[in-house]
Amino acid sequence: MVGGGSAGCVAAAGFARAGASVMLLEAGPGSTAMLSDARRLPIGPSSLYVDPITTRVDGVRDVVGTRGRVLGGSGAVNGAYFVRAPLADFARWPQDRWSADVVAEGFRRIETDLDLGDRPGHGTDGPMPVSRAVVAPVAEAFRRAATAAGHRDLDDLNATDAGDGVGAVPSNVAGGRRVSAAEAFLAPVAGIVEVRGEAMVARVDVVAGRVVGVSGRDAHGEFAVGADRVILAAGTVRTAALLMHSGIGPRETLRAIGVDVVVDRPGVGVGVGDHPEVAVAYRPRRVAETWRTPLEVVLEAGLVELRCYSASFDRLIEGVPPGDPVIGVAAMVAEPLGSVVPLSADPFAAPRVDHPVADADRRALVDGVALARDLLGRPEMAEVVDHVTTAPDAPLSPGAALHTVGSARMGADDDPLAVVDSSCRVLGVSGLAVVDASMFPAVPTRGPHATVIMAAHRATEMLVAEAVRSAAVRRER
Ligand SMILES: Cc1cc2nc3c(=O)[nH]c(=O)nc-3n(C[C@H](O)[C@H](O)[C@H](O)COP(=O)(O)OP(=O)(O)OC[C@H]3O[C@@H](n4cnc5c(N)ncnc54)[C@H](O)[C@@H]3O)c2cc1C
Repeated sequence: MVGGGSAGCVAAAGFARAGASVMLLEAGPGSTAMLSDARRLPIGPSSLYVDPITTRVDGVRDVVGTRGRVLGGSGAVNGAYFVRAPLADFARWPQDRWSADVVAEGFRRIETDLDLGDRPGHGTDGPMPVSRAVVAPVAEAFRRAATAAGHRDLDDLNATDAGDGVGAVPSNVAGGRRVSAAEAFLAPVAGIVEVRGEAMVARVDVVAGRVVGVSGRDAHGEFAVGADRVILAAGTVRTAALLMHSGIGPRETLRAIGVDVVVDRPGVGVGVGDHPEVAVAYRPRRVAETWRTPLEVVLEAGLVELRCYSASFDRLIEGVPPGDPVIGVAAMVAEPLGSVVPLSADPFAAPRVDHPVADADRRALVDGVALARDLLGRPEMAEVVDHVTTAPDAPLSPGAALHTVGSARMGADDDPLAVVDSSCRVLGVSGLAVVDASMFPAVPTRGPHATVIMAAHRATEMLVAEAVRSAAVRRER
């Protein structure tokens, strides 16, 4: 396993439970201690748990987008929003293995819903705890304002037929602790997975079209590990970079960084999606003191999601300069126009993410900003909001919500941009698979974390079944 993030922990646990001998190589610390406070995101400027990645927005503006770099990955440092992608999103996934029924069952199996487990479609015995609570004054007021403005009040954003409306965010939180995939999936099998922290993989080693292991660097120097199967789970940015530094990617890009071509796969690193997000700031009547998670309430409104942050970012993230709190407006039906761009021949150097924002997404954001301003001005918010501080004519300056997906996307054999098949096996290299947000064939219309965990769980089942089948064939021979 390369990468012990949200998906990597799920996959490592699945293979280990099936009896495989699993080594998990994680670039960051191999422990999630200190990261469980669900009220805060440990991604500030001095965080030891992040991989800062330059993101070029619209070809001109560079911003830093951090990714988790620790066991548990981005899911160990994120906002703990755990909203499922609607089943309609999966119409764009290969239907042979990712039909709506299969996906719905997948979501059920990964969770224990601590509030609504008795409802149809919810789980009571999956590894990931899910709960909801609205305690931040701004979240309560925002929900009332949205309902008064005519939006449906939803008591379960993860219901199969939830649709649009405002509601409490399902969170992967139990007892105030953010529960990452490292705790939920990996910890129960800790004794049977060899976890090596601070071990950064540089490339996958391929001989005659078959994977033979990986090589990289850790505190002791360079290492090489033999393996008959390698699963890449380094996240959308680093998985694409790893593929390219291993000679698997678009011929021209590989040539530009001086890497020999092993397999020409034009889809690696292109068609990358995210949710463009802008912020509408307001001056609060008093500084927020009470909240449980950074996002307790969201409004799903057609093409946009309005994200009512529970407190200002300086209260949520250590080291961020003081500022007004915001309502985030994210374009959720986003066009995947982005790319992962390797900048040098050095496999350890971070690539850049290019994030052009489509005109349609920009228009959705303009409408979303108007909606946010309208809600902030409603009487239901008057106790919390003094006035909106973002100027009405402020230029739209979107960033990325850090929901990056699709740099090694799944598709049929005849799809020229497909990188993996519907079982997540890399096309053209036996023994190699991608199990993380890279393999998403489309941008989900909700934050990706719940979908990443579900997809990793489902992919692992398929890969394990395939491994068992090929072992049986080998025995028969
Ligand atoms: C700050 C932040 C907040 C977010 N908030 C939310 C949210 O609230 N809700 C939501 O739905 N989504 C959220 N997301 C997105 C969500 O967390 C991610 O989509 C998801 O965790 C991605 O899972 P992954 O397994 O693909 O990658 P990751 O979880 O990022 O895991 C990749 C792992 O691979 C390791 N790695 C990378 N390169 C190498 C290498 N070369 N060798 C070895 N290891 C390597 C990394 O250190 C990391 O641990 C957020 C993301 C961020 C960054």
